[in-house]
Amino acid sequence: MADECVCNRVVCTYDPDFGCGLAPTPQEQKLRPHFIIRSSYGNDSIALIQWAYEQELEGVVVVYSDTGWARKWWQTERVPQAEEWVKSLGFTPVQVKSVGMEAIVKQHKGWPFRLGQFCTDELKIAPMQAWLAAHDPDKRAVILTGVRREESENRKTAPHYRLKSPNDGGRCMVSPLLEFTESRRDELISRAGFVPLDHRSEECRCINAGKEDIKRFDEDDIATIERIETEAGYTSKGKPRVMYRPNKHLGATGIRQIVEWARSARGKYAAPAAMPPDDDDIAEQDEVACQKEGWCG
Ligand code: SF4
Repeated sequence: MADECVCNRVVCTYDPDFGCGLAPTPQEQKLRPHFIIRSSYGNDSIALIQWAYEQELEGVVVVYSDTGWARKWWQTERVPQAEEWVKSLGFTPVQVKSVGMEAIVKQHKGWPFRLGQFCTDELKIAPMQAWLAAHDPDKRAVILTGVRREESENRKTAPHYRLKSPNDGGRCMVSPLLEFTESRRDELISRAGFVPLDHRSEECRCINAGKEDIKRFDEDDIATIERIETEAGYTSKGKPRVMYRPNKHLGATGIRQIVEWARSARGKYAAPAAMPPDDDDIAEQDEVACQKEGWCG
C-alpha cells in the first residue's frame, strides 16, 4: 500500500513494503524528531522538558546519554521515573549508550582531567552524534538544551542559539531557558510534578566534582572508582593514576582519601603523605571549567 514519503529528501510516493532506498523505516518515521532535547534528567532538563510541553511542541524526542558512569540510583530510579513522565507528555524518551568511563580510562591509560576532558566527547557527544546521524540524517531537527547563564561564570556568555552547532552535527541548537533564574526554573519543575534536586544531576560521576558531590558517593561508588584506580596503576613518573588530582585536593590520593577530604572542613584535611606537584599539575593551575555547552555541568 502506497504511503506519503516522509523522508523529505525527494518528492515521491513511498511504498513501505519496498521502500525507495532513501526513506526511513516505519519505526524511524514514527520517531522522526522535530525537536530533540538533550537531557540528563537533572533540574535544568526537567524544566526544559516541561517548557517544551507548555509551548505545545510536537515531535519531541528526549535523548538521555547513558554514560555507563551514572550513580546507581540515578540509572535505576531517576531515569525510569523521568522517562515515564516524558511518555505521559506525548514525547518520546530515548537512551544512547557510551562505552563507559572504565573503558576510556583504559584506552587513554589515565583519567580525564579538566584540560584533557576527553570524557565529554567520548561519553556524551560522540554517542549522541551517532544517534543523530541515524535518526535525523538530513539535520532538520532543532536541538534544545537547558543551559542557563546564571549557572556559572563559564555560561554567562553562552549564546541563545547556534544556527549550526558543531557539537550537534551542524544542526540548529537553541537554549530557551538561557535567561531563566533558578526560581523561574524551579517553577517549571514544580509544575512538572518534580521536586527540585539540591544537587547536580548524577548521570555521570564527574571528574570535576566538588566536595558536596563527592560527599554523596556511597560505598558502591567508592569501591568502583577504587578498583579502576588500582587497575590503572602508575604513570612512568611513578604517580598513581587516580580520578582526582592530589594537588587539587590537599594531597588526598585515591578515592578513599578524596572522600575523607570532601568530608573535612575547608583547609583542614591532612593527607597521609603529601604529593609534590608535577608538570601536569602545574598546567592545571590554568584550568577552565567544562566548555562544552550544555553537555556537562
Ligand atoms: S560529567 Fe564530568 S566526568 Fe562526565 S563527561 Fe562531563 S566532565 Fe566528564
